[in-house]
Amino acid sequence: MEACCRGCMPCCSVLWNCIWPGYPHPNNRPADIPTISGDIRAPAPKQKPTQLYAALFDFEARSDSELTVKEGDKLSVIEKRGDYVFAKKLTGSMKSGLVPATYVAVLQDEFANHKWYYGNINRVKAEELLLASQNKDGSFLVRISESHSDEYTVSARKDGQVTHFRILRSSIGAYFVSEKVSFSTLGELIRYYQNNPKTLGVTLDEPCAQPRELFDMEPWEHPREEFKLQRKLGEGHFGEVWEALWINQKRKVAIKTLKQEDTKQDEFVKEVQALRNLHHPKLIQLLALCSRGEPVYIVTELMTKGSLKSYLSTPEGQTLTSAHLIYMGSQVSEGMAYLEDRHIVHRDLAARNVLVGEDLVCKVADFGLARIIRSSVYTASRTTKIPVRWTAPEAALHQRFSVKSDVWSFGVLLYEMMSRGKMPYDGKSNKEVLELLTSGFRLPCPSKCPPNIHRIMMNCWNHDPSLRPSFHALHTQLDGIYARIYFKTVEV
Ligand code: ATP
Repeated sequence: MEACCRGCMPCCSVLWNCIWPGYPHPNNRPADIPTISGDIRAPAPKQKPTQLYAALFDFEARSDSELTVKEGDKLSVIEKRGDYVFAKKLTGSMKSGLVPATYVAVLQDEFANHKWYYGNINRVKAEELLLASQNKDGSFLVRISESHSDEYTVSARKDGQVTHFRILRSSIGAYFVSEKVSFSTLGELIRYYQNNPKTLGVTLDEPCAQPRELFDMEPWEHPREEFKLQRKLGEGHFGEVWEALWINQKRKVAIKTLKQEDTKQDEFVKEVQALRNLHHPKLIQLLALCSRGEPVYIVTELMTKGSLKSYLSTPEGQTLTSAHLIYMGSQVSEGMAYLEDRHIVHRDLAARNVLVGEDLVCKVADFGLARIIRSSVYTASRTTKIPVRWTAPEAALHQRFSVKSDVWSFGVLLYEMMSRGKMPYDGKSNKEVLELLTSGFRLPCPSKCPPNIHRIMMNCWNHDPSLRPSFHALHTQLDGIYARIYFKTVEV
């Protein structure tokens, strides 16, 4: 009866579905249905593809429970354990063990690696992009459907106009445009219609080109719908910073968004490019990017206590002992030593650009002004704004930035820390600060600051840059002082 009704009057399928629910969707049937192309496919059940990770840099196991990895090793992450992941090597020894979470990054995502995937952009934006001059007939993109977040739309340009096709999902998750042929992945569907343009009526030639190629960010690129913005953390030069949930990774992250004004994109790109090539536990780690569509997201690890500057003025920050502060300073010098080795000048090192996480973990952030320099001195353009109180005189007066001018800034950062957040040269104008420095004045020892730490600051403020210590030396010194306090060989 049911089969007869459905067979004779397929147009009443809604009614038949009410009377006989549970009728299998056409795409659930075995693959013996002839299709217009003669291609017969059985849609595979929808599966979350295994996420492939890569080691971002070398890690040497310190115990049997840890796993030694080399930069580029392919890994599968079995589970997250606090700041570590329990991972298995996919090549070589196939061993498994713990690796710090910040040493690995997702390498593949279901759609992120497809240049045609634009995620959550609407119809109007899709048309605007496809009709832009750098695209032509045959340019196309795939976006999330505006009405059903589980479905997608192919937007393609033909004869100077844009046509949209819904990609539907079967009950078992297969993708199809026409019920006659369905696919287990979006990638397969697109490939199929690229090879069979007649069945769709439009040619899918080249993925839509962005108005301006921001970056080639694979494997960092992720669809923005993987992230849920939850709480605004602050606002900086480039745009807002949000606490967000990385849904499928089940982890909180920080997301920096790019303000729409075009002029800042170049600087923003520089910041991202600097970030993505730098990996150190004491530098803020880039985790992902959403650079297709707007606003662009830079996803980094979340530092729960925010900037060091604001943290120092919280009740918790005010109770920190010198030992705590030295420990934090030592971490900053460690991160800076990594930059020093790579001849990277930060140019804006200050408590506001250090972020604090749980257990007083500190990481250097904000590489907005970072430049990789070939020679040891970088001359800034005169138009760049300079944070005078933190900047060495030769950099503030003659734009001569170097690793050694960063060392000067580190001295000021130590002052901010040891004075629990005091503004350096409080009450003085920038001009007065420069005059004071030129006359030989240096910030005094903050109350409750051990004299040996003030001596370190004074070394950082040597007028002659070449006589200032290196970050490696600063790290060794601070670490040594901290160890002596920790093991109670000195009192603070
Ligand atoms: P600028 O961009 O001009 O250097 P800024 O450093 O204040 O200024 P952002 O880096 O955009 O600006 O950060 C703004 C604020 O967002 C910070 O002060 C900090 O409180 C918060 N923030 C930034 N990144 C993170 C992060 N990874 N985790 C937690 N909070 C963050």
